[in-house]
Amino acid sequence: MATTAIHAGEIHDPSGAHIAPIFQTSTFTFEDMDAVQAWTSGETEGYVYTRPGNPSRTALARKIAALEGIGMGDDREQVKAEIFGSGMAAISAALMGLAKAGNHIVTQRVLYGSADGLISNVLTGYGITNSRIPGLEPEALERELETHPNTTVVYMETPANPTMRIIDIERTAEIARAHGAALVVDNTFATPVLQRPLEHGADVVVHSTTKYINGHGTVVGGAVVAHDPEWMADRIKPLVGGIGGVPSPFDCWLTNIGLKTLPLRMARHSESGMAVARFLDQHSAVVATHYPGLPDDPGHEVATRQMDGYGAMIAFDLGSYDAATRLLDRVQLAKLGVSLGNVDTLIQHPASLTHRMVSPEERAASGITDGLVRLSVGLEGVEDIIADLDQALAR
Ligand SMILES: *Cc1c(COP(=O)(O)O)cnc(C)c1O
Repeated sequence: MATTAIHAGEIHDPSGAHIAPIFQTSTFTFEDMDAVQAWTSGETEGYVYTRPGNPSRTALARKIAALEGIGMGDDREQVKAEIFGSGMAAISAALMGLAKAGNHIVTQRVLYGSADGLISNVLTGYGITNSRIPGLEPEALERELETHPNTTVVYMETPANPTMRIIDIERTAEIARAHGAALVVDNTFATPVLQRPLEHGADVVVHSTTKYINGHGTVVGGAVVAHDPEWMADRIKPLVGGIGGVPSPFDCWLTNIGLKTLPLRMARHSESGMAVARFLDQHSAVVATHYPGLPDDPGHEVATRQMDGYGAMIAFDLGSYDAATRLLDRVQLAKLGVSLGNVDTLIQHPASLTHRMVSPEERAASGITDGLVRLSVGLEGVEDIIADLDQALAR
């Protein structure tokens, strides 16, 4: 994993440049008309224009595909990725590549806020309906798929944002497949280092590369990964060109550099995540700590089976809106902000920030209580992160 993250997809420029150059160009020129003819007849491959393709983007796509494909044996070479200008551009492409007017999408109840908005408000306008099963529980999911035989997508996040709920990928993939639907997994929280959904039977993986994959908070981006190269070529590639939600070459280059240290970062993130979760779990001011690494967490057993570590996202409940918001005013090292997966610790209150658009009733039904705080444990000294939370909780 560490070697793949550093070497896969790298461009070796003829100049001998050690680090790949940034192909910051909108277009690519041909030597002459013979070269144009060779390209149009498919004799040669090449870049023509940066919306359909750019070498800086290809390099990043190859690295992500290689990481998601680890463990897939001979199928590994089949895994392909396309890079988008945001996680949401990637998610919309994946869903548009799988569902058409008249089709149905089944999802878990709690989803990343904008993914929820896309499925419940945008796609419905194009004739794509949806329904929710709280945690995609197997029996309820089977019933839902029987009720909606036009379902082409089962869409899930595990661990889920922001509740840290865990869903069994393999079990869900089996049920989806038996009913002719594809399983799409948002793997943003875990990253391919901790979880590779394609190995567990998922058809498509989506990422917000904005988070751990870039890891340094400098870029917004996304990726679609699948192990059906024909589907990628026939359904996703046309959306890259046709919708055009592509990132700049510079953003791809920055993300690619960040991705090289992902295995190293995730190991440290997981170690610190565990230490902070243990600290919160025993603190008298904390009503509940949701972290799959804790042995009594309801997702612990499934997470242990399908993940190679528990990561650094933690949700914890302080019992009331006031207690949660007071904590956010008192932390000093942890920064109050909505993103996650960066080298520095970020903390936020879903009920007033990321999930403010979700109605209080829906929030309650999804487990997003008023006292819930979401913490993205960074790579600072873990004793400093714990000391910061300790002083804020004491006050
Ligand atoms: C941030 C995030 C997204 C959306 O990604 P953007 O890059 O912000 O568009 C989707 N899913 C999850 C789980 C996220 O955390």
